[in-house]
Amino acid sequence: MKKDVTLTVKSKSVSKFKGGYPLISKDSVQNLHDGIEEGTIVKLVDEKNRFIARGYYGKQNKGYGWVLTRNENELIDQSFFIKQLKKAIESRKSFFNNQETTAFRVVNGEGDGLGGLTIEYFDGYYLIHWYSKGIYSFRESIIGALKELVQYKAIYQKKRFAESGKYIEEDDFVTGERGTFPIIVKENGVHFAVYLNESAMVGVFLDQREVRKRIRDAYAAGKTVLNTFSYTGAFSVFAALGDAQKTTSVDLANRSLSKTIEQFSINGVDYEAQEIIVEDVFRYFKYAVKKQLKFDMVILDPPSFARSKKMVFSAEKDYKNLLKEAISITEEGGIIVASTNASSFNMDRFKGFIDQAYKESNKKYQLLEEYSLPEDFKTVKSFPEGDYLKVVFIKNAK
Ligand code: SAH
Repeated sequence: MKKDVTLTVKSKSVSKFKGGYPLISKDSVQNLHDGIEEGTIVKLVDEKNRFIARGYYGKQNKGYGWVLTRNENELIDQSFFIKQLKKAIESRKSFFNNQETTAFRVVNGEGDGLGGLTIEYFDGYYLIHWYSKGIYSFRESIIGALKELVQYKAIYQKKRFAESGKYIEEDDFVTGERGTFPIIVKENGVHFAVYLNESAMVGVFLDQREVRKRIRDAYAAGKTVLNTFSYTGAFSVFAALGDAQKTTSVDLANRSLSKTIEQFSINGVDYEAQEIIVEDVFRYFKYAVKKQLKFDMVILDPPSFARSKKMVFSAEKDYKNLLKEAISITEEGGIIVASTNASSFNMDRFKGFIDQAYKESNKKYQLLEEYSLPEDFKTVKSFPEGDYLKVVFIKNAK
């Protein structure tokens, strides 16, 4: 057994923690040091040694651990995890009962009071992401709690705690009966091929569910659609199923070609009538400008940070320029769907980038609608950084 550690919250941060703030950071606590063992239970107290909260130590890119309870009498044991998981599962009841969508998030870290971990459901399979060694040290209690609460085909896991949050490559199978991959899940009636034992990414990002549906149901019909940073082509598949005239998917990764063909195929879309291009998006933009290509709709969903051979892309620094490139190849009256999952800036700043990009392009625009995380990606008000997704539908003025 590790010995519990008491951490004194700096006076300026006391009210923040009392108000529900869940992240333990160097900045908010006095006596945090690297000697604390991962998974140690920490008690947060004020300068007069009065109890504020209890949590665990777990170093990850965001901070040094998470608050788990504000009840002094509550211990962090299996029954604690059963209670938290049960709450999380019950609040996703409508998802469990939905035949048309069989993939969703069951536990969204601190949004469900369990910072440092997420659990997703893929048609009977559960996938746990562990974001620190600290939270992973509770795996027996957490997996035990999950097994007690749900029926499952199998449980898989991703260890996301190598250097700076990187995925540790290994067999991700935990328990149950090994799946044969891909398994085919559904999202609003559309199929996705999902691989739970391949890499950190399984084939689909569930947080864009509402945006995909909106593109299919309200925007795609008759349009030419350019999907940049397309990964497995999820947006392209929804656009094609919404009767887009043609989709063009562009991604740098070689895997994206076969994966995108697969996603089209399992949905009965002829992939040969679509364009799938393996290339750096920034090179593609140059090509498109040279060829005077214009699209009715351009989807931008870059990673927050990416390093390619030639350049480093950071959403915070470079999104405005990305938008300018997109604007130059979008038809008058056309739509740009600008998306980012960067937690380092909020919606207001994102809209600032958009405004700046249009100003510098000497063009006018209209904001049509915006999206943030869907309901299963639960967040808490006290931790706005956790509400990372920002998607804006923009219309180019004529
Ligand atoms: N929009 C996707 C998810 C994007 S994930 C979806 O909805 O599913 C980020 C993707 O960006 C990865 O597939 C990665 O290969 C790709 N990528 C990163 N840098 C790129 C670049 N410079 N050009 C093209 N693709 C890039």
